[in-house]
Amino acid sequence: MTRTDQKSDFDIIIVGAGFAGLYMLHRAHEMGLSARVFEAGDNVGGTWYWNRYPGARCDAESLAYSFSFDSDLEQEWQWTERYATQAEILAYAEHVADRFDLRRHISFESTVDGARYDDSTNLWSVTVDTGEVASAPFLIMATGCLSVPLVPDIEGLENYKGKRYQASLWPHESVDFSNQTIGVIGTGSSAIQAIPVIAQQAEHLTVFQRTPNFSVPAVNASLDDSWVGAFKKNYREHRRFHKLGLSSGFGDLEIEARERQPDAMTAEGLSDAEFDAMIEARWEQGGAYILGTIADTLANETTNARFADFVHRKIRDIVDDPATADALCPTSHPIGTKRICVDTDYYATYNRPNVDLVNLREEPIIRITETGIQLPKRHVAFDTLVLATGFDAMTGALLKMNIQGSNGQKLKDKWAEGPRTYLGLMMAGFPNLFTITGPGSPSVLSNMLVSIEQHVDFIISLITHMRDKNSSRIETSLQAEDQWVNHVNDIANATLFPKGGSWYLGANIPGKPRVFMPYAAGVGVYREVCDEVAADNYRGFILS
Ligand code: NAP
Repeated sequence: MTRTDQKSDFDIIIVGAGFAGLYMLHRAHEMGLSARVFEAGDNVGGTWYWNRYPGARCDAESLAYSFSFDSDLEQEWQWTERYATQAEILAYAEHVADRFDLRRHISFESTVDGARYDDSTNLWSVTVDTGEVASAPFLIMATGCLSVPLVPDIEGLENYKGKRYQASLWPHESVDFSNQTIGVIGTGSSAIQAIPVIAQQAEHLTVFQRTPNFSVPAVNASLDDSWVGAFKKNYREHRRFHKLGLSSGFGDLEIEARERQPDAMTAEGLSDAEFDAMIEARWEQGGAYILGTIADTLANETTNARFADFVHRKIRDIVDDPATADALCPTSHPIGTKRICVDTDYYATYNRPNVDLVNLREEPIIRITETGIQLPKRHVAFDTLVLATGFDAMTGALLKMNIQGSNGQKLKDKWAEGPRTYLGLMMAGFPNLFTITGPGSPSVLSNMLVSIEQHVDFIISLITHMRDKNSSRIETSLQAEDQWVNHVNDIANATLFPKGGSWYLGANIPGKPRVFMPYAAGVGVYREVCDEVAADNYRGFILS
């Protein structure tokens, strides 16, 4: 591969070898660009490399949560379950890396600490914890939205003497919970997947819950070969639907792809029985797409409350002990405004004799001791502590690096009041730097594979456009950025999302600015906006 810019080590430096980094690398090679990926782990896979906790699997259907760019790949790869396990998705990422000969362009166990833009050469210089320094005109952040684990600031954590695991940094060797007593802190998506599996193995499990979450059944199952065959015959149609027809980019499992509308545009006029029957049908089908049953669920408080009430009734039906059921019913946020969880037997797990729930709203943690957790009136001892306490989402990985743009401007100063981007792709003052699924794009509100492919394709078309115009520097203006940020806020404010108090808003990190980070208009609308921008001579991007 020849370099287009002989002053630099590479044409493109990519940070991260998850799905975003792998696809970016592949497309860069197709364009004849030399690229180097720096990856902290010792293998590809990103989030699926690190998150190996028991029960970890995707909550988007495997046939949708996969690359669409290569039809031989999508036809040949065999998913075995409706929702793939972490191990199967990691095997898929490894297969992609090998199939497209990507590994030799990846430096593993190489964490990027900093990146600095030089206005005189138009090059980024990247520093790596191995001591390596590398330069390239383009820097692509494929650092993931949920890649910086949050270790909770709980008094005494460092004194705990038992075994301790963080869900998102799980060891590679298998962890045996048999004959062990376990404490789990957290009840987000990770915990909700792990708890039923740990409960089956452990002698006893205590779950420490601060805020209950809404969870819906996955209805996971093995995939039937003939069903998959029929689905794959229409793969192009399904993919088109995922990219344009759905706001989230996943959820269509019907063999005949079609433009599926919500069952009802609003709940107004629906009797309680009609409303329940619609939600019940989707509850039985399983999956997060239940939130798309009635179109105004995330915009209308009354509809949302009716929906939440349906799930509360489900929880009370499933969980035998009324006090435990009460504690498990979320009441502090509208349904869907924190990422809805998708589970297998989560609520039923609390009927097991070896499982207890501690409601931290009534019994707050005083401190972690050498052997367990001290509550106001009792001490709960356990052999092993599992922290499923989440992430510094969306901005965490970018702000962990010391990124300095034009004239030495630091990203952490620019984003002191919260992230600001144009289209979630670029920040004013940071030329030639792109963020894949950055804040301000649909990212975490979407099927990440759909959003990753769209962003990478857009970046590649921008770089092609630059080549055509013989330009070496691209940036966005403060004006384009301000307008986009205002638009992202307007869209969010027309929904109930800002009432969720979630990591979408940075609300899980003490001191983090409360800004709703993803773009909530959906992947179809967002794609149209990006296509319009491109057709309008890449409006908002300045070439020089
Ligand atoms: P999360 O949703 O942020 O949940 C973290 C949990 O830890 C919350 O219950 C939180 O309680 C609790 N917590 C944090 N600090 C605490 C403290 N000091 N004391 C007590 N409790 C504390 O994190 P997550 O479960 O890792 O999930 C994050 C996201 O990753 C998901 O929303 C999803 O987007 C993604 N994910 C996807 C999958 C999948 O595809 N299947 C699986 C796992 C994760 P509060 O709510 O009170 O803060």
